[in-house]
Amino acid sequence: MGDNSVRTLQEKIRGLLYKRNAILLAHNYQLPEVQDVADLCGDSLELSIKASETDAEVIVFCGVHFMAETASILCPDKKILLPVSSAGCPMADMITAEQLREKKREMPDAVVISYVNTTAEVKAESDLCCTSANAIHVANSVDKALPILMTPDKNLARYTKKHTDRKISYWDGYCVYHNSLTVERVKKVKKAYPNAVFLAHPECRPEVLELAEEAMSTSGMIAYAADSDQREFIIGTETGILHPLSKANPDKHFIPADPNMICTDMKKTGLKEALLALENLEPEVKVPEEIRVKAKNAVDRMLAVRVR
Ligand code: SF4
Repeated sequence: MGDNSVRTLQEKIRGLLYKRNAILLAHNYQLPEVQDVADLCGDSLELSIKASETDAEVIVFCGVHFMAETASILCPDKKILLPVSSAGCPMADMITAEQLREKKREMPDAVVISYVNTTAEVKAESDLCCTSANAIHVANSVDKALPILMTPDKNLARYTKKHTDRKISYWDGYCVYHNSLTVERVKKVKKAYPNAVFLAHPECRPEVLELAEEAMSTSGMIAYAADSDQREFIIGTETGILHPLSKANPDKHFIPADPNMICTDMKKTGLKEALLALENLEPEVKVPEEIRVKAKNAVDRMLAVRVR
């Protein structure tokens, strides 16, 4: 798509957003041209919380399905549009509510902490939610005597387990992209950029996190890079994050730990799809009320945990 057509589509989107009393939210992994037209960019929970604070009646969520569901959980009175309904999260799909119910029958005392990257139905079966930024604090908020079951990401769970004294067992899920980052690959990039700081997402494998100077969420990386005096950073997460990092820090150099870490589902939404969703006010994502109330309880319990 040429610059002109990108600009034209972005102008059409901005015009329709105004007309529809809508806002467009884009996850940090979205295509650059989608992030550039957004009212807000950020990680999934951050976006949903901001969505619940606006007066807009319509939210165009450029991300994947569980994110639009989270927005629906927190903003039941708003119309939530997911421009491409097939944009999902393979990790979120690694556990179903029925599978979780079965696991809970095996571990009746366990406190279930589910990553925000889960379906609304799985959240509804969970005691608490967590994000990659607050997982350790959420685990520490649980009574020491009780076992914890973390779903669905085994890597986030192992990272959390390492940094708490809680008894944590976990589901065998993972993000196919973060889990594909290898020690060999990271060592090679580190050798090529010996002065760079390696920032890795907790969805990466434990042995990869061992090599990182810092393990943090996408929003954490954005804040860290802005505050740091360092000039070079190796980024161990989905490559979409390079756009906001470079845009906010034009004098700093961001190197992908692996340029192949591209989430296919995150790239399904283009400007044309966002425009079409605004024109037709669909596809809509609406979590049924019974599930929404239970899922919101898990999200609220997470939000009540103080993060120091
Ligand atoms: S990057 Fe991984 S966790 Fe994020 S949406 Fe894609 S598959 Fe899911």
